[in-house]
Amino acid sequence: MTQWVYRFGEGKADGRAEMKNLLGGKGANLAEMSNLGLPVPPGFTITTEVCTYFYQNAKAYPAGLEGDVKSALGSVETQVGRKFGDADNPLLVSVRSGARVSMPGMMDTVLNLGLNDKTAAGLAKRTGNPRFAYDSYRRFIQMYGHVVLGVDHHHFEELLELHKEDRGVSLDTELGAEDWQKLIEAYKAKVKEELGEAFPQDPLRQLWGAIGAVFGSWLTARAVTYRKLHNIPENWGTAVNVQAMVFGNMGDDCATGVAFTRNPSTGANEFYGEFLVNAQGEDVVAGIRTPQHLTIAGKKANRSTLPAMEEAMTAVFGELDGVRKRLESHYRDMQDIEFTVERGKLYMLQTRSGKRTAQAALKVAVDMVGEGLIDRRQAVSRIDPASLDQLQAEDRGARGEKVILVRTETSPEDIHGMHAAVGVLTTRGGMTSHAAVVARGMGRPCVSGAGDLRIDEAARIMKVRDVVVRDGDLLTIDGGTGEVMLGEVPTIQPELSGDFSELMTWADQFRRLKVRTNAETPTDARMARRFGAEGIGLCRTEHMFFDGGRIVAMREMIVADTTEGRRAALAKIMPMQRDDFVELFRIMRGLPVTIRLLDPPLHEFLPNSRSEMEEVAKAAGVSTDHVAQRAAMLKESNPMLGHRGCRLGITYPEVYEMQARAIFEAATLVKQETGETVETEIMIPLVAIPRELSILKEMIDRVAGEVAAARKMTTPYLVGTMIELPRACLMADKIAVDAAFFSFGTNDLTQTTYGLSRDDAARFLQDYERRGILPVDPFITLDPEGVGELVKIAVERGRRQRPELKLGICGEHGGDPASVRFCARVGLDYVSCSPFRVPIARLAAAQAALADTSAAAHATD
Ligand code: ADP
Ligand code: MG
Ligand code: MG
Repeated sequence: MTQWVYRFGEGKADGRAEMKNLLGGKGANLAEMSNLGLPVPPGFTITTEVCTYFYQNAKAYPAGLEGDVKSALGSVETQVGRKFGDADNPLLVSVRSGARVSMPGMMDTVLNLGLNDKTAAGLAKRTGNPRFAYDSYRRFIQMYGHVVLGVDHHHFEELLELHKEDRGVSLDTELGAEDWQKLIEAYKAKVKEELGEAFPQDPLRQLWGAIGAVFGSWLTARAVTYRKLHNIPENWGTAVNVQAMVFGNMGDDCATGVAFTRNPSTGANEFYGEFLVNAQGEDVVAGIRTPQHLTIAGKKANRSTLPAMEEAMTAVFGELDGVRKRLESHYRDMQDIEFTVERGKLYMLQTRSGKRTAQAALKVAVDMVGEGLIDRRQAVSRIDPASLDQLQAEDRGARGEKVILVRTETSPEDIHGMHAAVGVLTTRGGMTSHAAVVARGMGRPCVSGAGDLRIDEAARIMKVRDVVVRDGDLLTIDGGTGEVMLGEVPTIQPELSGDFSELMTWADQFRRLKVRTNAETPTDARMARRFGAEGIGLCRTEHMFFDGGRIVAMREMIVADTTEGRRAALAKIMPMQRDDFVELFRIMRGLPVTIRLLDPPLHEFLPNSRSEMEEVAKAAGVSTDHVAQRAAMLKESNPMLGHRGCRLGITYPEVYEMQARAIFEAATLVKQETGETVETEIMIPLVAIPRELSILKEMIDRVAGEVAAARKMTTPYLVGTMIELPRACLMADKIAVDAAFFSFGTNDLTQTTYGLSRDDAARFLQDYERRGILPVDPFITLDPEGVGELVKIAVERGRRQRPELKLGICGEHGGDPASVRFCARVGLDYVSCSPFRVPIARLAAAQAALADTSAAAHATD
């Protein structure tokens, strides 16, 4: 029989931390903390399998669940000595969501469940604290009304504000028991007005209502968006945790808070957190009230005037600090924890691996190696390669206008806005609010609770004392220090230094795959070397033809209808091309450089306008009409499958000949100048037929001989090919007769394998992704089954023919972590990617090697 319900509490639990898939992260860690003997209020977890069942069976529950919940609830009653729905001594519970991976604030939670008119009165009597009891009840109606019954929360807030106005007070804390009782009546009337039905008084009905709502919240718009942004599968589902309530709102010896065991912004090993006296958890994480700091150091650093927990509740703080150390040494990772203090007693309500910025992730990993908590392998495995993007402002510019989201407070509903923004600034809420956590997880700096700011959202202005900042003004924020600066402050382009470079050095010790870069400009080549590139895997030569005056010479060459005409035009280009290579070779000294000979269809170079044609005609000494005629003749209906790649080299050998000469002369010049050799690798694109390669290789060898004779010096070189057509993969053994290397051009290989144009795919690929027809875009992550199978065939057949065959990949996939892992698995020698992605590829390559060795270790266990 399937176990649908897992219990936890009193120093033991049915579950463990490893059971996240079944229990969700929150449930699994509540179980783990119980097993560790930490003070966790007892409760139980309804598994994610129930969620799956729920959605597959029109929102019905499996048989037996009801009974299991009842008996688990019974054991909670026994443990805390209270009864659910009992008028004298009621047990109250929270009903909490919790998916496999944390989605802070994206799903729903209901607190104080089990309260009704009778139990509220009983609670008031029993605790001798009617204010607390009725405050809890009105919170419950508000939360349950919103989350389960769908009554918009602003109705409740409005009633509360009105009541405060009537009473002439501004703070919730100024309201007493009678106020809350009045509000409860008003809330209940509002619910009835909105729904035509009274607020449910039966605690069991409340419980099942909340369970259904939590399962239902898996599909809220914000949860769906969050999953999409974080690639979390739709079919995972959430678990539901039902847990005895503990109360942070019973008086001034009560509190609730959220903390990180280290600073999630910088990674510094300091206790980082916030708390609120006499409050319930949601008050902190929802970002509505600005909380107090946990430590004196934190309070000072943030120039706060409110007392820190360390001074206001010294003993409990000490206990919490002990839990912090205990959790870190147990989980061996930075934790994000939630706690509540009820009448001086500490309770742990949640722990999870803390979301952090990339910078913090690096520092924590490197520090923990130093502290002996983890080893270097674990450190390297732990960093998400894709997160390194955060350290390199790569596509920020490409995203167009940079926007900072400025709000009074943010709620998780703002997820779209946060994603679109480069930073988030709020006047309310703490640094541990869900908004701040989510922003940090997305790599967006977030300054929250900047209390001196006054925002007028309608007027789209923001004021700090006399300074007025308008929509469109420049602003800089520092998520690490919480500073907000007027104007644009130059930001530092992160260098490979400190923790970053240390961790990368470790990564390099583990990886077998080499990492090269795709670069043709000196700027890119230099940058890539700084980022640790071990050569150039793809230097495209066509860009060199588009530059300045060259395009005219190039067009002259294209429109020429004789070999002599073409040679004359090429002679003009040759010295420029040679000088480009000289510069590149100087930078890449000692490393291999793969140069791809001209690849794109001539079509792309054709003059379009009449004035362009006139310019070419003048340079070539022919009539404009002649140029126009020639251009019309060269037009192709399907240029990507047309006269391009090595097909150009076959029909216009003088083009490739010129390029080969430029390469050899440049290599010779740099060798003379520096004494160092460049390993040139000449790459012939788009080979489908072995004979194409052998003809061109013969020509290149001849040119190499001519240059060597003229310069009385030889330079090493290889001739190889780009494998980018399915036929080339299948013919790999025959192609390898002449090819010293293969470089998989996986962009074209994906296009030609799928018969899918990358430039036109966007229109329908989204639809395919959404409907699960294609789970990932094959132009981003290499399709391991189809395209990958062709790669494997080519590797295997190529190596069979020529065991020393060099193998690499130079498509966009070379910088995608999942694709890098694939390349490592099929035994390529290197990947090549854009300069900014070099560190990502180095790390992904190390992780691939480590995953391999740990798989091998398992196999021998
Ligand atoms: P989220 O996943 O959005 O953080 P939680 O389920 O963690 O939602 O609940 C939010 C807050 O509610 C917690 O941080 C905690 O302070 C409070 N809470 C949850 N369960 C309890 C409980 N049993 N007793 C007291 N407070 C609770
Ligand atoms: Mg939580
Ligand atoms: Mg190509």
